[in-house]
Amino acid sequence: MELEEHLITCPYCAEAFTALIDPTMAGDQCVEDCEICCQPIVFLISANGPQDPCTISTHRENE
Ligand SMILES: [Zn+2]
Repeated sequence: MELEEHLITCPYCAEAFTALIDPTMAGDQCVEDCEICCQPIVFLISANGPQDPCTISTHRENE
């Protein structure tokens, strides 16, 4: 499976950037630092079926 590019909006600084998401991580969460403000963003990855890109929601680490 290939990595998917997703446009992420940072929950801290509200800047958008592109993150590479591993769809095999669906149902899981991972933490990546924002490219702009370098704060840790929690990504929740939801699968939408084998043909469709997954859905990403972002949260602050303390939420
Ligand atoms: Zn940020």
